[in-house]
Amino acid sequence: MSSSKKSQPTIFVIFGGTGDLNARKLTPALYHLYLDGWLPEHFAIIGSGRTALTDEEFRTRLLDGINQFSRSGKADKDKWKEFAQHIVYQAADVQDAATYKKFGQRIEEYQKEWSVQPNVIYYLAVAPEFFPTIASNLAKSKLASDTNCTRIVIEKPFGHDLESSRELNRLLSHIFDERQIYRIDHYLGKETVQNIMAFRFANALFEPLWNRNYIEHVQISVTEQLGVGERSGYYDGAGAMRDMIQNHLLQLLCLVAMEPPVNFTADEVRNRKVDVLRAMRRFTPEDIRESAVRGQYAAGWMKGEQVPGYREEPGANLKSNTETFAAVKFFVDNWRWQDVPFYVRTGKRMHRSASSITIQFKDVPHFVFPPETAESWQQNRLVISIQPEMSIRLQVQAKRPGLDMMLNTVDMVFDYKGTYTSQAPEAYETLLLDTMLGDQTLFMRGDQVEAAWDLLMPILNSWQGRASQSFPNYSADSWGPEVAEALIARDGFHWFTLPLNGTE
Ligand code: NAP
Repeated sequence: MSSSKKSQPTIFVIFGGTGDLNARKLTPALYHLYLDGWLPEHFAIIGSGRTALTDEEFRTRLLDGINQFSRSGKADKDKWKEFAQHIVYQAADVQDAATYKKFGQRIEEYQKEWSVQPNVIYYLAVAPEFFPTIASNLAKSKLASDTNCTRIVIEKPFGHDLESSRELNRLLSHIFDERQIYRIDHYLGKETVQNIMAFRFANALFEPLWNRNYIEHVQISVTEQLGVGERSGYYDGAGAMRDMIQNHLLQLLCLVAMEPPVNFTADEVRNRKVDVLRAMRRFTPEDIRESAVRGQYAAGWMKGEQVPGYREEPGANLKSNTETFAAVKFFVDNWRWQDVPFYVRTGKRMHRSASSITIQFKDVPHFVFPPETAESWQQNRLVISIQPEMSIRLQVQAKRPGLDMMLNTVDMVFDYKGTYTSQAPEAYETLLLDTMLGDQTLFMRGDQVEAAWDLLMPILNSWQGRASQSFPNYSADSWGPEVAEALIARDGFHWFTLPLNGTE
């Protein structure tokens, strides 16, 4: 995120090279970094999986991925040809310690050919059960001993709970320095998410208002229209709290709530985020029912098509207790935020796919206009739309044009599309470049991940120990279960459901 320079010669070793993540996200991102001139002259991508493939077959698969998923559409023939020369395939079972020699040999060959010590980035795009195996085998094969030049990138989920995340951190810390470990939360690479920091800390305007004196409450909402589909196998062991709130939504909350960092170095920014997680109010068994609610989608209709309920998805457990929706009310117990509720919700099969943060300011202390002037009165709101719209809107009251004095809400808008002509990079482009440059600002530190698990464990344990009697409790194409409305209505608020132009 900080860079305007190219990295050292670099080798990417992508475990899970034949998988979905590589085809949809990693290779398209590397291809764009290449097109935009961010990759060094000497770079290589070694993809790996168990499937037997020639280099050419592997490249063809990746080209299909780019043609299907790249932000700029189909690959340019000549550019792809140049780029593809840097890609090779190595069939290997990650559980077979002997096969790691092959990676070592390949890395040595590049080193000799380039006559420099390259950075080597091991990207673990495989199921989480393989993270410890790969890390241990890299260590045994002495492929991770150069702490300056080797890095490991770990995909989500990082652990299943507090204990397993601690265990994984312990194992990794025996093999790698923390500065070699890049725990991905791809939300942090999104342009709009990075902009929260720019917006807060590069403008004098907001900081004086950014506290309990002026902010009434905060809402963070990440909703998806898609259901679980073929991913029941993975999802049923996770659920919305583990899959979304533990990482993406809590990270967004940290960016809104953190204190200004002294500078923009990785550890300073991450320290300030950990401070937020540590200040968050712990859940007692008594207040879990009041503060956290869950839902599971039923069958229904979306865009005119009949869709199955969660329990009827392919391979799903017919009695599943897994939540596909979760909403939580958090508090941050410090001087800045005491008693300001942060409402967070996420769900699948919701009415719209949208991610946004809304900061609602307190009402004016005294209303000077006659009551009839305020037809559509609304407190000031700052709406940060992360996707699909990328914008920041300040909603204020203004006089409607006319001879009478009538107030209504208008938006002051910063919209990416209207402001910039260049396409925003994908989150994975930013994150892969940062990995090459050794910038960890947008990656999760070990203590951050553990602090997030620690906060949520009481809720997860309570839900696990108490099967929901009401599942399924929301229909497809809705805004979630009634209990979520009640959670926020008890405090006199309602969830903001933003139509596409931003205002309610
Ligand atoms: P996937 O499509 O199922 O791919 C799994 C990969 O692992 C394949 O390349 C497979 O290759 C390889 N693999 C499995 N067993 C192996 C073994 N014993 N030895 C060597 N390779 C093996 O999974 P994915 O969706 O790409 O997800 C990969 C990781 O990224 C997961 O941790 C997931 O949670 C995370 N993630 C994915 C996404 C996404 O959009 N897909 C988003 C966020 C996070 P072979 O079949 O050729 O062996």
